[in-house]
Amino acid sequence: MQVERNHPSCPDCNDTGWRLDAVTSAVRRCDCTLEKDVGARLRYARIPVRYQHCSLENYHPQHDSQFAAKGFAEKFVDQFPQVDGGLLFVGSAGVGKTHLSVAILKALVERKAAHGLFYDFRDLLREIQHSWNPVSQSSEIEVLRPVLEIDVLVLDELGANKPTTWVQDTMTHIINSRYNEKKVTIFTSNFPDRESDGSSRGPDAALMRREESLTDRVGARLRSRLYEMCTLVEIVGEDFRKTVRQSSFRFK
Ligand code: ADP
Repeated sequence: MQVERNHPSCPDCNDTGWRLDAVTSAVRRCDCTLEKDVGARLRYARIPVRYQHCSLENYHPQHDSQFAAKGFAEKFVDQFPQVDGGLLFVGSAGVGKTHLSVAILKALVERKAAHGLFYDFRDLLREIQHSWNPVSQSSEIEVLRPVLEIDVLVLDELGANKPTTWVQDTMTHIINSRYNEKKVTIFTSNFPDRESDGSSRGPDAALMRREESLTDRVGARLRSRLYEMCTLVEIVGEDFRKTVRQSSFRFK
């Protein structure tokens, strides 16, 4: 009698769900478990606890640009993966840029079976710096690999770091690699998007000239790359944390 062998569908973990990391020798959850499990994909996405409640449904626009931004986000989720590049949310603090980015990320993981990852840009750069191992030079790759390869990446707080040469080079590497591989990236930035030539007019012009722009923080080259790979979504309004929450607290 011939015994029929069941071949494992995953050669990395033999369907156990766990595999040995070749570089660090640590036991890790195998990527194949992510394919099957929405909960596992959401945990993998590393959404900070502070933002885990965020959804498209509980984003309540207070301003025309916020209605438009929510509309963009909904359309983006509906059309994914047939989308033309990613999104760049810009606007002052507290207008809901991170909220909407997380809401999109969660919707794509839950509804479109996408693999996603959230990173605050400052944390990512810190992790890359700390992971640097001059002997093996391998742990840096362990940090960067998912960032470069994941279907959907949220990079929060673009430009928040002081733009040293190392920061510029690292940003350029990540952004260019994802652009070349046609991966979707959603950026947020608190820095206003305008040319840094001081050409702004109107009553806020003097203030604007004093304020740094996104171009000042990421460089003109990277800004133009961002234009190629993203739709710009500008959000204006009050800081939600100060206005809406405080007023609802007063009226309770
Ligand atoms: P930003 O990234 O623009 O600085 P956040 O997305 O961090 O702003 O928003 C700050 C807080 O306010 C978050 O807890 C977010 O969920 C909430 N928030 C902001 N805008 C809205 C909104 N329109 N509806 C509901 N919650 C909002």
